[in-house]
Amino acid sequence: AASSLALTGCGRAETPAASDSAAAAGFAADSLIGVALPQKTSENWVLAESLFNDGLTGAGYKADVQFANGGVSEQQNQISAMVTKGAKVIIVGAIDGGQLGTQLKQAKDAGATVIAYDRLLLNTSDVDYYVAYDNFKVGQLQGQALLDGMKAKKPEGPYNIELFAGSPDDANAKVFFDGAMDVLQPKIDDGTVKVVSGQKSFEQAVTQGWKAENAQKRMDSLLVGSYSSATVDGVLSPNDTLARAILTSVKAAGKATPTVTGQDAEVESVKSIMAGEQYSTINKDTTALVEHSIQMVKDLQGGKTPEINDPKSYDNGVKVVPAFLLTPQIVTKANAAEQFANDKILGPLTK
Ligand code: BGC
Repeated sequence: AASSLALTGCGRAETPAASDSAAAAGFAADSLIGVALPQKTSENWVLAESLFNDGLTGAGYKADVQFANGGVSEQQNQISAMVTKGAKVIIVGAIDGGQLGTQLKQAKDAGATVIAYDRLLLNTSDVDYYVAYDNFKVGQLQGQALLDGMKAKKPEGPYNIELFAGSPDDANAKVFFDGAMDVLQPKIDDGTVKVVSGQKSFEQAVTQGWKAENAQKRMDSLLVGSYSSATVDGVLSPNDTLARAILTSVKAAGKATPTVTGQDAEVESVKSIMAGEQYSTINKDTTALVEHSIQMVKDLQGGKTPEINDPKSYDNGVKVVPAFLLTPQIVTKANAAEQFANDKILGPLTK
């Protein structure tokens, strides 16, 4: 905890905090940097792989970028292997942020710096920094978009909705859900919004493994169980992959298209938004997130303390992890062209 407190100052410090040996030491400019990515559950992860490879090698480092499609034990083995190979920084996008304690301790004992990427690493003191988009804000934007989208279709409530959350092993999933409920709960309490199935808790709303088929199955049974005569006005979906699965389910049931939220600005979802099907997504530019992570590596290499802009928000159960948070942007059909004006793939889809 002492070293986390020593790193809480804003801005890039000229003199590294004395208690942070990893930052103070620096390391060789051609060192190995490990990047442990989770499963390919959305396009952002696939994109991160090539951005990390190109960005790290372009900056002169050796890069070891791995996916763990086989699951948690594969990711544990990959991190151990990175430690053995002498990685100076290990950047981790965890499948299950609470299952890597042993390997992260190995990393720290070997003198590596550990950066949690996009997803927080939980219940361990062996994590130095967190770099991510503001997850709570993502949820709030989703909750607000759900209300806005339903209102645009039907000016007066009450509105019938259902709630979906991400995978419970991903530390982000609960934060997204809590952010959305921060906006939705008051509307549920005043009767404007009704969760017809009654399934309002995070535990009831989760989608194991962020798998589309799981969301589709759950939506199928919600429709059968609660919507034989009622219409569904809106569905809170935590990301684009699940949003499209939910829309597929609703279509198969012959129901009118509800307002469905999303996240990640995936190609198929941006097309769906432009076609008036999915209502919203969240733009979390992966390039900016990877660039910031690599900037942290460069700072550490030079013996500088990386820039932090949120020293307090991310308590992982054992320590408060100094974080650099980027700002997510809401995207609907109305602002998509503006949001993706400089994006070579998404831009043309919004014309
Ligand atoms: C990421 C989301 C992504 C989800 C599933 C989360 O941890 O923050 O952007 O949609 O994982 O891959």
